[in-house]
Amino acid sequence: MSDTIRIALGALIYVVCFGLSIVWLSEPATAGPYISNYDRIPLVNDKPPQVAKWGLTPTVIVCEHAPVTKSQVDKAVRFWKDLGYRFYNTQYKHDPLNKCLSENPKGYIIIHLVTLGVKMEETALAQTHFFIDNATSQVEYAVIYLRPDVRETVLEHELGHALGFLHFNKINHLMNEKWMMGGWDTEGLRKARR
Ligand SMILES: [Zn+2]
Repeated sequence: MSDTIRIALGALIYVVCFGLSIVWLSEPATAGPYISNYDRIPLVNDKPPQVAKWGLTPTVIVCEHAPVTKSQVDKAVRFWKDLGYRFYNTQYKHDPLNKCLSENPKGYIIIHLVTLGVKMEETALAQTHFFIDNATSQVEYAVIYLRPDVRETVLEHELGHALGFLHFNKINHLMNEKWMMGGWDTEGLRKARR
């Protein structure tokens, strides 16, 4: 099947992460009216939305120039393993099959340094693209773009997108879209037992 047809049968989802966090830092707090309405605004989701799951067991590849150390990526993969997810392998700056340059790295989670060719909001800290095959509703691959100086929780958060999760704006939650409001809360992220 040609790539064009495959794209037509699937959805490429772009998740821009922490896009407002830097703006938010530089603006005075204007939380008053929001807080006063807080308990009257129903939460749209009571857990992080997961729009697709992996069928394959993904391999993680950290590409040349990606601004993370081996211990950072091992820690982030371990974090998700502890929540019940499986990874086939983690390859640190070792890519014999050239998956880092592939347009369709099926079965892989690819980690890159953001480069000039990648469209990304100026204030965003990271961005993850993941491709869902509509025929199977499964994630086929994911590509993570990181800016230099990766902050705490960013890599784990992006791996969360790579596993099919969207944002969940609970205070201190790993999948909060604002880095300043996020943290290590993993409510709703543990893999359900089959
Ligand atoms: Zn995000």
